[in-house]
Amino acid sequence: MARIVMKFGGTSVADLDRIRNVAQRVKAEADKGNEVAVVVSAMSGATNQLVDWCQKLSPLFDAREYDTVVATGEQVTAGLTAIALQNLGMDARSWMGWQIAVETDGQHGKARINSIEAEELVERMKQGQIPVVAGFQGIGPDNRVTTLGRGGSDTSAVALAAALKADRCDIYTDVDGVYTTDPRIVPGARKLTKITYEEMLELASVGAKVLQTRSVELAMKEHVRVQVLSSFTDAPGTMVVDEDEVVEQEIVAGIAYSRDEAKVTVRRVPDRPGVAAAIFVPLAEAHINVDMIVQNVSADGTTDMTFTVGKTDLPRTIAVLEQARQEIGYAEISTDPNVAKISVVGVGMRSHAGVAGTMFRTLAARGINILVISTSEIKVSVLVAAEYTELAVRALHTAYELDA
Ligand code: ASP
Ligand code: MG
Repeated sequence: MARIVMKFGGTSVADLDRIRNVAQRVKAEADKGNEVAVVVSAMSGATNQLVDWCQKLSPLFDAREYDTVVATGEQVTAGLTAIALQNLGMDARSWMGWQIAVETDGQHGKARINSIEAEELVERMKQGQIPVVAGFQGIGPDNRVTTLGRGGSDTSAVALAAALKADRCDIYTDVDGVYTTDPRIVPGARKLTKITYEEMLELASVGAKVLQTRSVELAMKEHVRVQVLSSFTDAPGTMVVDEDEVVEQEIVAGIAYSRDEAKVTVRRVPDRPGVAAAIFVPLAEAHINVDMIVQNVSADGTTDMTFTVGKTDLPRTIAVLEQARQEIGYAEISTDPNVAKISVVGVGMRSHAGVAGTMFRTLAARGINILVISTSEIKVSVLVAAEYTELAVRALHTAYELDA
């Protein structure tokens, strides 16, 4: 007997037939003698619709009321899934975040979970009841409903698995696992049977949108065994595990891309101490996340500073830089939203030289110009013109011998 948290994403609960299918899967796990808790997302498209309504009424909506609105998507699916389970003769009960309670901080719209009171759920699970928990939502210190940021029900599931001390957290989605890259771009992409937390974290943060980044951070910290799998097939998924569980380590586990960033160049800033601070401190104060950064070598006492920000932050970035123009003392700002970040990720990089070299050589051979480079211990990322995204991903997938 195991204790399992089963999380179903929006596409898995998109309509009543799919909710029936989810109920069948949950019943099958319970029938094996397992204790099961379910976490659900909103029906696919529902959250977008709710967000859109808030924005249409007021672009500067109150974040507390936004949470009140967008948290309803999960309330609907939690109730419907409980009904579908009851229809199969199961003892099931829905739970909203505040009822459990899933306690979060007060950052409405992107709250973090502080703690989950799991005793009541554990008690009921022992008696054979299946809790169906609304993902994405919690309750803040102001006693109001909070939500965890887009994709947050992954984090709800992992946090619940940690609180329940579950043996496994199965995340059901519309892909049947984590692939070496996006199979829509590379048909020969392979499904990984295992991937380390660290690799998954890097892949999630650089654009492989299988799991919310925060959920992977939490799984790593709490040692929750996460499995990514599909609710539409019976194929085994990908297990996200500790490094020592991966026996045959590939140097590169996967290649991810993201078209969510824009490039900003601040031209001809005086090359003196304090200039980077003059640029990046005001951006940080405006809560704008900066990702890749390069500073050029200067010849005449001035230099160019290039960096990337989220595309949606670009207008605010320009506004902040224009405000700080006196302080920074630059000649002009130029921006380019038509860029893509391509990243190769693998823990094997720590012990193998030449991974970056292979990347640069491969891109050069295709005539793809690299605009910015950044690296971490287990990742190399480059920024290229967006039109080369597919070509770059395919070429790299082949170069690292990842093709099936
Ligand atoms: N329904 C929320 C969203 O679409 C949370 C989630 O699905 O993870 O972002
Ligand atoms: Mg999701």
